[in-house]
Amino acid sequence: MLIDSHAHLEMPEFKGDLEEVIQRAKASGVTSIFTVGTERKDWKRAFDIANSHPSIYAILGVHPHNVKEIDDLTYAELRDLCQGEKVKAYGEIGLDFFRNLSPREVQLDRFREQIALAKELKLPIVVHDREAHQETLEILRSEKAGECGGIIHCFSGDYDMAKKCLDMGFTISVPGSITFKNAGEFQDIVKRLPLESILVETDAPYLTPVPFRGKRNEPSYVRYTAQKIAEIKKIPFEKVAEVTTVNALRVFGIKEGRL
Ligand SMILES: [Zn+2]
Ligand SMILES: [Zn+2]
Repeated sequence: MLIDSHAHLEMPEFKGDLEEVIQRAKASGVTSIFTVGTERKDWKRAFDIANSHPSIYAILGVHPHNVKEIDDLTYAELRDLCQGEKVKAYGEIGLDFFRNLSPREVQLDRFREQIALAKELKLPIVVHDREAHQETLEILRSEKAGECGGIIHCFSGDYDMAKKCLDMGFTISVPGSITFKNAGEFQDIVKRLPLESILVETDAPYLTPVPFRGKRNEPSYVRYTAQKIAEIKKIPFEKVAEVTTVNALRVFGIKEGRL
């Protein structure tokens, strides 16, 4: 069993073959998928996909790329949707200083606001941090984000940052990029982190692992990430699958998942 803690099944890339994608995930041992609606136009679809599949869950929020679109209605709408019983986390929220699709100042303010909203909703957060490690840590600390906890998804910081995130009560989610040839430094970090602090994710349709790099990513490929972790840590694949599954169920507060 495996859990894909972060995918984007509501995106247009899956419009044509969503059910096949879900079946392939099931056939490769994936018991639950968390689909992340990152902007208003995607929330309802993510919500509906979760509600029509027993072991698909939704994560809703405003991605740092889209925070410039937040208006008076945004948080009211999210507050409402997040009451749904299949919504298990708030996100992805954070900072993306690589693409800067929203102005940095706006990203910083909206990140703070959304942490406060997640706490009010009593949901763990899913954090997106790209080239904004110091600022991300600073905000998580000053906003006391450890009170809601959650996941640093597609982790890209160094070991010291990972350690600080764990100390605040966060888990580290490992994407398919760990299989890439140039991922030596990240592999080293994962090697040093306790398995109890790690989740696996695809971020599908993005970040496709080897051997499918270059193609569309999908939840069934999460096993290549788990396999790579097993190889790096020199432990059986089954152990990685089992422990990362228990970790995900704990973080999201779910008893058991089954597709
Ligand atoms: Zn992200
Ligand atoms: Zn994502």
